[in-house]
Amino acid sequence: MYLLSVRKISKWYETYSGRFFALKKVSVDFPNRGFIAIMGKSGSGKSTLLNILSGIERPDSGSIWLEGKKMGKGDSPILGRRSSIIFQHYNLINGLSVIDNIALPLSMRGMSKRAVSTLCRKLGISKLRKRKVDNLSGGEKQRVAIARALAISPSIVYADEPTGALDEGNSEIVMGYLKKISRKRLVIMVSHNKELVDKYADRVIEIRDGQITSDSGGEIEGEDKKAIVRKDKHRSFWIGKIIGLGLRKHFGKNLMCGFSSFIGFAALLLSVGFVLGNGPAMEEESAKVLHHLLAKASLEEEYEIPGSNLHLIKSVKPRQDDLEETLGDI
Ligand code: ADP
Ligand code: MG
Repeated sequence: MYLLSVRKISKWYETYSGRFFALKKVSVDFPNRGFIAIMGKSGSGKSTLLNILSGIERPDSGSIWLEGKKMGKGDSPILGRRSSIIFQHYNLINGLSVIDNIALPLSMRGMSKRAVSTLCRKLGISKLRKRKVDNLSGGEKQRVAIARALAISPSIVYADEPTGALDEGNSEIVMGYLKKISRKRLVIMVSHNKELVDKYADRVIEIRDGQITSDSGGEIEGEDKKAIVRKDKHRSFWIGKIIGLGLRKHFGKNLMCGFSSFIGFAALLLSVGFVLGNGPAMEEESAKVLHHLLAKASLEEEYEIPGSNLHLIKSVKPRQDDLEETLGDI
């Protein structure tokens, strides 16, 4: 099973000259680990694809599957699963120290901060631990950002042009780290640096005008190479062919048989409907109403930022049973 898949996802924007597609019916699968690069020219849809994979943006059509489960409209992949994002411009919080920046996602989740010093050591930033991030170099900032991304032990790390603002030496260091962490987890990176991608990535997906134009499939150690991308297409092709042949051989018989099965099935459905009455339909309707409320209701959680007067307020979706309980009181 793939860790992450998308099927026929499209994203469009309404413009004065009509509908503009940033992504057009993109389908792709990602395994549990490996370093996968998404490449393409500026404006080709790379960030849009990454943002949809990570859950920052929602597609206008198509589906996202995480560990074989389809993500619903109300599901937030980022909050719900262990995944982190690394940005081109680091997105660190100025005014806070290196340690406090790295510990932030842990504080927000109420998790232990014990891992922070180990991460600093692994990324070679132990000496910078107490410095404010404001005056660090680009390469140092990106290493802090990688440590922050790893703090929650994510199973997926997304990176959007992580070396875009770095010189060659620092780019190599950052790519080396991303490669290393991809041995145990999935790393999906957007880049337009072909040289670095060719050197470090296990698999390269190229995108042009919102569509995948090539996919190297990759050679991820220990992964079934053929399992990537076209496996399901192949299987359904052969199954389709076998069924097709059988049907053609006994066409008349099959037609009659299919028709009578259809009548039988329709009759069965009708009788089940009569027996069960309206109960399930009503239940379904109330589940829909509850789901709607759940999508609208939100809980606010407040977090202190260590060493700062600022407070973070996070809006989270309440659990369905909490909402049911609350609604029961109204
Ligand atoms: P890339 O990361 O490959 O440079 P993006 O995924 O950011 O490209 O954008 C893909 C296309 O979608 C671009 O042509 C961009 O101009 C367009 N686009 C992105 N966001 C919007 C928006 N909010 N409104 C209109 N067009 C957008
Ligand atoms: Mg981009």
